[in-house]
Amino acid sequence: MSLSEFNLIERYFTARGVRREDVALGVGDDCALLRVPAGMELAVSIDALVEGHHYPAGTDAAAVGHKALAVGLSDLAAMGAEPAWATLALSLPEADEGWLQGFADGLFALADRFRVQLVGGDTVRGPRVISLQLHGFVPQGMALRRDGATVGDLIYVTGTPGDAGLGLELALGRYSASDADARYLRERLDRPEPRVMVGLQLRGIASAAIDISDGLAADLGHILARSGVGARLELAQLPYSSALQRLLPDALERWHYALGSGDDYELCFTVPPERCAAVEQLCAALDCGCQCIGRIEAAPGLRLYRPDGTLLENSPHGFDHFG
Ligand code: ADP
Ligand code: MG
Repeated sequence: MSLSEFNLIERYFTARGVRREDVALGVGDDCALLRVPAGMELAVSIDALVEGHHYPAGTDAAAVGHKALAVGLSDLAAMGAEPAWATLALSLPEADEGWLQGFADGLFALADRFRVQLVGGDTVRGPRVISLQLHGFVPQGMALRRDGATVGDLIYVTGTPGDAGLGLELALGRYSASDADARYLRERLDRPEPRVMVGLQLRGIASAAIDISDGLAADLGHILARSGVGARLELAQLPYSSALQRLLPDALERWHYALGSGDDYELCFTVPPERCAAVEQLCAALDCGCQCIGRIEAAPGLRLYRPDGTLLENSPHGFDHFG
């Protein structure tokens, strides 16, 4: 790394943010030295963001910084892990200081909220790709996994899935909306709110969990496959934002977005019936919407039921990067 690049890293990334007690050595050496608290397992997740693929080209730099961290925090949330450290590999075409300032501002605003310390990284010249790895803690044996759903469990989702996918369609000019609705949906795409506190409180309550990055149907499908079960989903129970309802008067189109579009970073989880009251209470206390949308059944596969009780054939599929 050249001196100017080193100065750049120091200016934008290493001279700011929270300082944690469990970091013995942060940025500046060949490795960071970190202490995992006794009795905890280390939860690790990495995501790469490519411009034009994971966010629209021209997205505000602060939103990119926010999202780079939010997607990893969402993975920790889905495991019931408490965020602690991040490492950041940045590939940039040039040292655009305006972009770097915005990116770092967006990143650290979210990192500070969840007490995440940036403890290392790498900076190289190349096409713009942002890879961020997150590390968190979860008490041994307590992680929320995908393989714990059992027959009779109820299925919940937080927030209003479909908003981010519709926000992307708006950004691409495929719909038109009022300024307020367009702003709301674009914000849902650009600045997802990772459900960290909900994930932490679901430990010991949810039987399985996943975060929604590829679409509710596809991601719930991962829980079903890993747990060796199936599910019945009530389309009438899907929760929508009022902006989505205004833009999509047709029920089939709403189902399509809520079930098939990605990037929402909400949580989908299963709960034994006797613990449902606890779930609804904790979500209300955290001011996070949550809705029961179906039930785990023994027969494999995901069955979608219309409001009139009939089975919907040709279910919408989740977004598949290689599909
Ligand atoms: P090395 O060549 O030993 O891998 P570098 O010269 O690439 O180290 O980096 C020097 C220090 O700066 C290291 O501690 C590294 O973790 C940190 N660093 C480099 N790039 C970033 C970045 N984008 N964000 C945070 N820390 C970084
Ligand atoms: Mg080295």
